[in-house]
Amino acid sequence: RAKEDGRNGIEFFADGMAAPTSERLSLEHALRRALERGELALHYQPVVSAVDGQLIAAEALLRWTHPELGNIPPDRFIPLAEESGLILPIGNWVLDTLCQQLAAWQAEGRHMVPVAANISPLQFRRADFVASVAEALRRHDVPPGLLTLELTESMVMRDVERAARQLDELKALGLSVAIDDFGTGYSSLAYLKRFALDKLKVDQSFVREINTGPEDRAIVAAIVGLGHNLGLELVAEGVETGEMVNTLRELGCDSLQGWHYGKAEPAAQFADRLGRA
Ligand code: C2E
Ligand code: MG
Ligand code: MG
Ligand code: MG
Repeated sequence: RAKEDGRNGIEFFADGMAAPTSERLSLEHALRRALERGELALHYQPVVSAVDGQLIAAEALLRWTHPELGNIPPDRFIPLAEESGLILPIGNWVLDTLCQQLAAWQAEGRHMVPVAANISPLQFRRADFVASVAEALRRHDVPPGLLTLELTESMVMRDVERAARQLDELKALGLSVAIDDFGTGYSSLAYLKRFALDKLKVDQSFVREINTGPEDRAIVAAIVGLGHNLGLELVAEGVETGEMVNTLRELGCDSLQGWHYGKAEPAAQFADRLGRA
């Protein structure tokens, strides 16, 4: 016991556990400055049609390159940003940067596809959330149809009445809404039909095992059936192999996203996927 306590502190905080407070604080401090210093960037991951593999959409994913620590993955800094409230200015930066990028691609005469931004619970809960989305679109003169927002189940189930109203307002703006990581939260199926949604994104944990056991295949089949009956588009995430593609097609998924088709890439590289008019 005493021996264990004397071990290098680092080992106690190996993956998954909360990091030491001092490390958290310094990372939070660094994140605060990352925005001003231009260390954040959006990368873009393709989403293709399950029918013909054509590019039909994309997801914007946040990247942070720290000057000394290098690339810090979102799973490490997003929770920190949420706990500290920094996700609010960061979330605004994401919406603004995405709209600016969409406007730039459009001005270059690219063939446009809708691009999704991930929204955090704190953003969605703000009374001025819908107004801030409308403002970002207006500021860059972006057609609302080019923007999709990804929310999670817990965000809309927390306060159903309020969420339903907000989703109606977003719909009225003309943009699309997807539920991300679907199947991992606690959705009330009875409420799901009351929300103005466009897409369900099947969580990658189900896709990962789709060919290794009957359970996850059955879960994905059930989600696809439910979604289609509600008139929603079904997107599968985490598609890594041709075998997964075949199964997801068989199960009736409409669109596919994953390393099999491409990882998230910098804007300039992703632009090559968008043909020119
Ligand atoms: P997410 O929204 O579910 O995004 C999908 C994640 O799966 C991304 O991880 C993506 O790079 C990864 N991925 C895509 N295809 C594959 C695949 O074939 N196999 C595997 N194993 N992984 C794949 P990433 O970029 O590390 O982002 C992690 C999470 O961080 C996101 O999950 C999202 O919840 C959050 N996040 C990312 N950007 C933002 C942002 O701008 N705002 C907010 N609030 N959250 C963000
Ligand atoms: Mg997402
Ligand atoms: Mg997801
Ligand atoms: Mg996720």
